[in-house]
Amino acid sequence: MTMINLKIKDNLSISLLLSPLAFDRISCLCILVKIILESKINTYKLGGWMDSIKRVYRYGNGSAEGKAEMKNLLGGKGANLAEMNLIGVPVPPGFTITTDVCTEYNKLGEEKTKEILLAEVKGAIEYIESLTGTKFGSSENPLLVSVRSGARASMPGMMDTILNLGLNESAVAGLVKKTNNPRFVWDSYRRFVQMYGDVVLGLKPVSKEDEDPFEVIIHKVKAEKGVKEDLQLTTEDLQKLVVLFKKAVKDNTGNDFPDDPWEQLWGAVFAVFNSWNNDRAKYYRALNNIPEEWGTAVNVQAMVFGNMGETSATGVAFTRDAATGENLFTGEYLINAQGEDVVAGIRTPQQITLTGSQRWAELAGVSEDDRISRYPSLEEAMSEVFRQLVDIQEKLENHYKDMQDLEFTIQDGKLWLLQTRNGKRTGAAMVKIAMDLLREGKIDEKTALLRMEPNKLDELLHPVFNNQALAKAKVIAKGLPASPGAATGQIVFFADEAEEWAAQGEKVILCRIETSPEDLRGMNVAKGILTARGGMTSHAAVVARGMGKCCVSGAGTIVIDYKARKMTVDDKVYKEGEWISLNGSTGQVLEGKIETQIPEMCGDFEKIMELAEKYTQMSVRTNADTPNDAQVARNFGAKGIGLTRTEHMFFEGDRIMAMREMILADDEDGRRKALDKILPLQRRDFEGIFTAMDGFPVTIRLLDPPLHEFLPHEDTNQFEMAKEMGIELQNVKEKVSSLHEQNPMLGHRGCRLGITYPEITEIQARAIIEAALNVKKIGIKAVPEIMIPLIGTVKEFTMQEEIIRNVAETVFAERGDRIEYQVGTMIEIPRAALTADLIAESAEFFSYGTNDLTQMTFGYSRDDAGKFLTVYLQKGILKNDPFQILDQEGVGQLVRIGNERGRKTRPNLKIGICGEHGGEPSSVEFCHSVGMNYVSCSPFRVPIARVAAAQAAIKNPR
Ligand code: PEP
Ligand code: MG
Repeated sequence: MTMINLKIKDNLSISLLLSPLAFDRISCLCILVKIILESKINTYKLGGWMDSIKRVYRYGNGSAEGKAEMKNLLGGKGANLAEMNLIGVPVPPGFTITTDVCTEYNKLGEEKTKEILLAEVKGAIEYIESLTGTKFGSSENPLLVSVRSGARASMPGMMDTILNLGLNESAVAGLVKKTNNPRFVWDSYRRFVQMYGDVVLGLKPVSKEDEDPFEVIIHKVKAEKGVKEDLQLTTEDLQKLVVLFKKAVKDNTGNDFPDDPWEQLWGAVFAVFNSWNNDRAKYYRALNNIPEEWGTAVNVQAMVFGNMGETSATGVAFTRDAATGENLFTGEYLINAQGEDVVAGIRTPQQITLTGSQRWAELAGVSEDDRISRYPSLEEAMSEVFRQLVDIQEKLENHYKDMQDLEFTIQDGKLWLLQTRNGKRTGAAMVKIAMDLLREGKIDEKTALLRMEPNKLDELLHPVFNNQALAKAKVIAKGLPASPGAATGQIVFFADEAEEWAAQGEKVILCRIETSPEDLRGMNVAKGILTARGGMTSHAAVVARGMGKCCVSGAGTIVIDYKARKMTVDDKVYKEGEWISLNGSTGQVLEGKIETQIPEMCGDFEKIMELAEKYTQMSVRTNADTPNDAQVARNFGAKGIGLTRTEHMFFEGDRIMAMREMILADDEDGRRKALDKILPLQRRDFEGIFTAMDGFPVTIRLLDPPLHEFLPHEDTNQFEMAKEMGIELQNVKEKVSSLHEQNPMLGHRGCRLGITYPEITEIQARAIIEAALNVKKIGIKAVPEIMIPLIGTVKEFTMQEEIIRNVAETVFAERGDRIEYQVGTMIEIPRAALTADLIAESAEFFSYGTNDLTQMTFGYSRDDAGKFLTVYLQKGILKNDPFQILDQEGVGQLVRIGNERGRKTRPNLKIGICGEHGGEPSSVEFCHSVGMNYVSCSPFRVPIARVAAAQAAIKNPR
């Protein structure tokens, strides 16, 4: 007899005791079960099976059913709440409804989901009741809970949260009796009605200029009382607010505010599931490549209260500085406040550490006396709790071995942790934290490299202000340096308008009183973000850091008037459309445009690059057409050029004239005359590039685009061309129309040009070989790789190759000198990949032109696909834009076939990629897995590709 444990999913396994003879039958049964589950026949219909699926995981008092590794099932928040229990961090008890239930809910709907969850949720509520000694729905000793989202990947602020759930008039009365703190109870109730009214019952602002309807009521009540702060409202005021809020809900939504705690709970659970599909969550997922099907978990947790009075507080902290990476515990808190107050930017949050507080005061222009009396740090205000928090943050960072982002609440002097997760950080912080953790011996080199999100390195290459220009600029305000960087743009006050302006090519700075998750799209397109309110942990700051976008938050002297579309600083008015600049590293807001420059690669960034060099198994080249681009890429560590597009060299200055002369020529003689004019110019270009790449290979592609691209299409330009060339306008028109093609991308281009006009290939080959010999004379080593574009048959290749080799031999004879060179081809037509074994008999290298290969494999025009690709992505036909992220399933197959067949003929065939995908991390990983020698990308993506290549080698060495 053998015991078999069949694990179908994290939360579903079957144990079977069986004899050897039963194996076959049982394996059939197991496969059948798996097929049933995977074919998405809902488990609800499976009757008995349903009960074996665990959908709710509890935690509390130092024990938990989940753990950190179960993020996929429990979401990041749920998994870490469980883990914190297991390592002895104080966490209020609660439970997590799994992410799988979110998927089930989307299929089954509310009623059925409630039915399958009911027993487990009831049991879990009883569990919390037993640990807290409270009762859900009791009027004497009510249990209140929070209901919060939590997906696998953190999506800060994108989904919904509800606090203080379980309150109604009788629970309020009971709680007042129990706590003897009526203000706290009514404050909690008005918050609950406000949050629930917004999130579950849908009472929201109608237009973008409108304020939140609940805030409008609060402002009115405050104005009537003549007070400014929420804290100045009395218990009676709060009672009045609850009545007004409930009335507003009824008037606007037609729904009564629910009193039954169970009705409240189910409403909140489903609202959180629904929030997975709200617009901002969808947009955030698209932005961060988070799959739709993951779903969110729901976390239900016993409430602890930061709003119980002066010995209570709530805060957010980072174990290291998320903007710069400095190893300094940072964060913000508010006394007598609840969760959202700190990040919402409504009150000015205080700093946790004394150092942080003093730094903040200096930036905010607050005197030391004022700081101590009005904004003391937690370290000063609650020193004992502060010490506990320092110990816990250290424990958590050591446990997770990464910078943590924490949420905590202090209830009447007792510290509780409500969340820990790997903190979002800027690109600079990402590099520094990884290198510091490595130096501290907490992680090893490979882990440090794997901690890089390659695309975030791009931030370190963003322009910085030119120091001289900065010194001359006028500082108009100062805020907090929430996310570093230099940004210059025109003032725009609304997120949707920022999108519109950006779509028209304008550079904008999004200026808001404070940002909310609704502003995500506008933040994404803006060059920088400026807020008048909010601290370092405000929504704007956290999201901007995650995006690597320059942000200055809490610039308190700025007064923004949305309706008048202007902002005022010290009586000076700045209107929509005026230019300002932000320095996200110092918090300065500056007048006008300020000149920027490219930053240098230095410090820890360079060290990460050295590590990448150590572990990578592919080299990274660049796509560069000018000596300047080649030099920039070399500075970023490029090991050669993977693609020089020679056509770009024909457009500059008077070269275009010679090119047009060649195109207009009636016969070969005429063409040769014009090409002779181009020869010295092209030779000079190649000399420059060989010099910049001294000793590294340079792949030069022969002319590729259809000839009509070199001729003007508009009447006025055609007229000018005729005039300049001293020919009839009619001649120009005739030539343009004779070159017209219905489908130029599949027309007379690539090697087809060199086949029909061999003299073009001759002249280009001569320019390359002569340039290489010229630089050799001055001690520079040129390593040319001549690349024939767009071949589909081996014959095309061999015919062009013959021309090149003949020219080379002629030039060698003329000069009495030689150099080494190679002749290879681009693989960008499916037929070339399929016949790679034949092509490799002659070609010395392959370079995948995945832009064209994608175009021809999908049959999508590179130039026109934009029109339908967005719809394809929305409808889920495609997961990604295949022109940005290599389609491994389809195009990738052709690459694999090309490699296998090519190397069967020529085992040492050098293979690379030079399409846009060569700088995209997941595509680079693919290139590593199929055994390429190098990837080639634009200069600014070289560091990204280097790290992605090293990560691929670490994950999957070959
Ligand atoms: C390609 O097709 O991938 C390529 C690099 O060539 P181009 O983009 O110039 O067509
Ligand atoms: Mg191409």
